[in-house]
Amino acid sequence: MERILLSRVHLGGREREWIDKAFAEDWVLPLGPNVDEFESMLSHYLGVPNVVALSSGTAAIHLGLVMLDINPGDEVICQSFTFAASCNPICYQGARPVFVDSESHSWNMDPQLLEEAIIDRRKQTGRYPKAIIPVHLYGMPSDMSGINAIADRYGIPVLEDAAEALGSEYQGHKCGTIGRYGALSFNGNKIITTSGGGALICPDAESAVRVKFYATQARENRPYYYHETIGYNYRLSNISAGIGCGQMTVLPDRVKRRREIHDLYKRELGIVPGITVQDNPSSEYDSNFWLTTILIDPASGSTPDELRMCLNRENIESRLLWRPMHLQPVFADAPYYGTGVSDSLFERGLCLPSGSSLTDEQIKRVISIIKAQIK
Ligand SMILES: *Cc1c(COP(=O)(O)O)cnc(C)c1O
Repeated sequence: MERILLSRVHLGGREREWIDKAFAEDWVLPLGPNVDEFESMLSHYLGVPNVVALSSGTAAIHLGLVMLDINPGDEVICQSFTFAASCNPICYQGARPVFVDSESHSWNMDPQLLEEAIIDRRKQTGRYPKAIIPVHLYGMPSDMSGINAIADRYGIPVLEDAAEALGSEYQGHKCGTIGRYGALSFNGNKIITTSGGGALICPDAESAVRVKFYATQARENRPYYYHETIGYNYRLSNISAGIGCGQMTVLPDRVKRRREIHDLYKRELGIVPGITVQDNPSSEYDSNFWLTTILIDPASGSTPDELRMCLNRENIESRLLWRPMHLQPVFADAPYYGTGVSDSLFERGLCLPSGSSLTDEQIKRVISIIKAQIK
């Protein structure tokens, strides 16, 4: 039987139109008309004017930090329960990550712990952290009104990591458009792909121009190459952007299908004792359900890793939840403010196959194997 993957690339069928156009018009290079069109399609979908297409989500987070003037010696607060790409760019800037635990409703940054961290960092270092990176993990929005209220109280800008949350909404606002900056990813396993790419959502036209400047080697406007600051090669290629344009035509369908898959899991597994299917905590949250995730009660007699191996024997891919950053050897020296929520999620949770190309029959096969294992 065909292997069921966690989240495989799901092409829409029209991607080649833009790629063929690029070849026909000799635009096989970084930047070009597909990049402009991809940015305008993203802008339209998100309802905000200033979106810059970049080579990866990691590059988007990095340039967000550059724009927020993060420098060596600064501290940046990041959600601990995430993928390392959320916080690695803090270190690229020579700054220090400070990790904050999750709350148990959204599984994302706990606003109360965020405030404790801000106050304590000020006490320890004499300065406030310079930015806050909440993450909309697995597509689930963070408690952005709680986080923004505290960020505003201390005058600290928010950079949303919306890499997994394109199409998710919080209080009717698209994730990525709620903080000062927002980062998106179009890697191969995300809700849409450019084969590899990202975007930075910017607060105004001036900052978008500045982001493009940094992303193209920070070349000043002179007839010769002249540099006053350090630059990067972070723009998206015209070919990749062509894939993105094709994918944008099916994005609403992809979000709809991920939500249907979540509904199916919820209906079938939500009634199994010992299993909790993660769900929107209230009507303010509208996840794209990039991945459907479950928690397994230790009393069920099965651990997430046992279930993962059991599914793997049936040729089904699943994945343990992200191991929190405060438990990663590379960040052992980083300050951490937590109460054990993300540690406990990591010990109990599993991501289920959620790709939009999966059929109901395939999802039902996954469900029946889980039901047989968790009794
Ligand atoms: C995928 C991802 C990123 C990084 O995006 P890339 O395009 O792979 O560089 C950042 N943060 C989170 C939470 C992600 O899932």
